Amino acid sequence: MKLKSLVINGFKSFADKTEINFQPGMTAIVGPNGSGKSNIIEAIRWVLGEQSAKSLRGGKMPDVIFAGSAARAALNRAEVLITFDNHDRYLKIMSDEVTVARRIYRDGNSEFLINGKQVRLKDIINLFIDTGLGRESFSIISQGRVEAIFNSKPQERRTIIEEVAGVSKYKKEKQKAEDE
Ligand code: ATP
Ligand code: MG
Repeated sequence: MKLKSLVINGFKSFADKTEINFQPGMTAIVGPNGSGKSNIIEAIRWVLGEQSAKSLRGGKMPDVIFAGSAARAALNRAEVLITFDNHDRYLKIMSDEVTVARRIYRDGNSEFLINGKQVRLKDIINLFIDTGLGRESFSIISQGRVEAIFNSKPQERRTIIEEVAGVSKYKKEKQKAEDE
């Protein structure tokens, strides 16, 4: 599974529809302070099901919608689409490409879609569970979380490493088997 592209439309500072194609070899996004780098990462977390407006630096979820600037009026809708190459069927969907989309309106109404078909948030969570890419995973590590890892106790740090290495899943199964 590979990240192919991201379309951001009306989300945070991206008032205009913006498409990022993740070509092979692309390893970094750079730009001046305030240019929207963190907003791109937040768009990815949001489309993958993030439910905490606070962790997206907002008060309530519709705050992710472009709020307007001196030159432009605020928008009423935000939309993010993320597309993965799924030739290896890593995601359990029988299609070579998987596009997940999320939309939100000012009144708070929102929609999730997988390959253009409306689904529930739960379906998005289930699609990415155990892929290392879900909303609770460590594939996206914010500045604050780096500090938390450095400041944690060795035992807690081990838990994080086991989670990343995919060991914790087996530990849970082992525990379950022993309990039975
Ligand atoms: P840094 O290098 O300082 O980390 P950055 O490139 O990560 O900067 P972001 O934090 O992604 O920058 O972008 C911040 C900008 O996004 C600010 O100018 C802020 O006003 C703008 N912004 C955030 N939310 C919205 C919104 N809902 N509507 C319009 N603009 C927004
Ligand atoms: Mg930033």
